[in-house]
Amino acid sequence: MNIGQEVLEMLKQEITDVEYNRYIKHLKYDAKNSTSDLALYYAPNALVSNWIKNKYGEKIAHLFEVKSDMRVNVQITLESKMDKAKLKEVAKIKVQHSHLNPSHTFDNFMVGGSNQFAYAAVKSVSEKAGQIYNPLFIYGGVGLGKTHLMQAAGNVFQNQGKVVIYTTVEQFLNDFVRHLRNKNMERFQEKYRKCDVLLIDDIQFLSNKESIQEEFFHTFEALKGQGKQIILTADKHPKKIAGLEARLQSRFEWGLVADIQPPELETKIAIIEKKCEINKVKLTKDIINYIATVIDSNVREIEGILSKLHAYSQLIHVDIDLEFTKNILKDQIKENRANLTLDMITQNVAKDLNIKPSEIRSKSRSKNLVYARRISIYLCRELTQNTMPQLAQYFGMKDHTAISHTLKKITELIQNDEDFKVKIEELTNKITSSD
Ligand code: ADP
Ligand code: MG
Repeated sequence: MNIGQEVLEMLKQEITDVEYNRYIKHLKYDAKNSTSDLALYYAPNALVSNWIKNKYGEKIAHLFEVKSDMRVNVQITLESKMDKAKLKEVAKIKVQHSHLNPSHTFDNFMVGGSNQFAYAAVKSVSEKAGQIYNPLFIYGGVGLGKTHLMQAAGNVFQNQGKVVIYTTVEQFLNDFVRHLRNKNMERFQEKYRKCDVLLIDDIQFLSNKESIQEEFFHTFEALKGQGKQIILTADKHPKKIAGLEARLQSRFEWGLVADIQPPELETKIAIIEKKCEINKVKLTKDIINYIATVIDSNVREIEGILSKLHAYSQLIHVDIDLEFTKNILKDQIKENRANLTLDMITQNVAKDLNIKPSEIRSKSRSKNLVYARRISIYLCRELTQNTMPQLAQYFGMKDHTAISHTLKKITELIQNDEDFKVKIEELTNKITSSD
């Protein structure tokens, strides 16, 4: 007996014989076209179909869940109407089950030097599914847009009517275990091997999980064999994922491996502007630059800040200005910068200006060293929790008044000299993303 019939048997226990014999008995379960999230039944006529839908539709879905631990969409249709058109419609219902975020589009993705390679790769795959790079493997750090890009392709395919499965390794594993427990592996295999496009996110979590690697290997082979597009993401290059079978590792490199790097300042600014536009948050150029400069690379973190700013300003009815932004970001920045040391900052400045760190801390009065020293002092004050006396000691100065004098000078320069301001922003950006 198939699961659809078993569910009806369960229902039989709960209703009268008359009702069962008059209605439920006539339902036929379509094992072939049902999937792990769609249960398809045929009824002999509209009366029976409507009556069951209204009275027992939810109950049947519930019993399915009890029986199989799976949430399914129950469809009861007329046998005669189950032609091709109808099947297509049903297929659409299936498609909607893939959890693609509709705002993850190519249009909403800001491209810069850091991500243009990955962007171009995904974009061209989205134009020629299965034909150029298969699999396409995208890797990079947290919050850099891997999921966004992968889903952008998914959305394109879905709009073309293709059956797209988007899943994380964790969901894939859970699904696998659930089907295994229910002795329902054919369904699992059918679901994953019959889709048009398979997107698997954060594939590094396959690491050291042998049985799921085995299953995934066969899924991969089946899809690849049919020319179906596979896109994978991970936090590192396939070669660097430990505990991964050699045959999978090599297959991941068959198509194209593209990396995403942390966004540079300009791209970060473009991303913030885009997010403001999408979320209808109004920020001045100053604030946008400030956020882009102080938050290192994680775009997700930037989004968190925007919604925090927005929420606060709504709650306490204030406009978002620079002071307000700095206040809101204080804790976040402290946390991010907890490990920045004075040495790290002077080293970065020295490298940027082509001098030795020791020269910055020397007593030399030569013009370029004074310049480098002042910038270092300013950045150390901005980026660490050191007090002025501590800075005076570190930079070999008489006392805190010398530090205070320097800070004043630099602040004035930043206000009056746009180029200098940009220079400081760039340096800050470099230092805060270099850990
Ligand atoms: P990852 O999967 O690499 O950890 P995500 O794709 O989840 O990162 O991205 C985190 C957030 O940052 C998402 O909301 C995404 O829309 C946004 N994001 C990342 N990069 C960009 C970009 N270049 N343009 C627009 N939004 C981006
Ligand atoms: Mg992701």
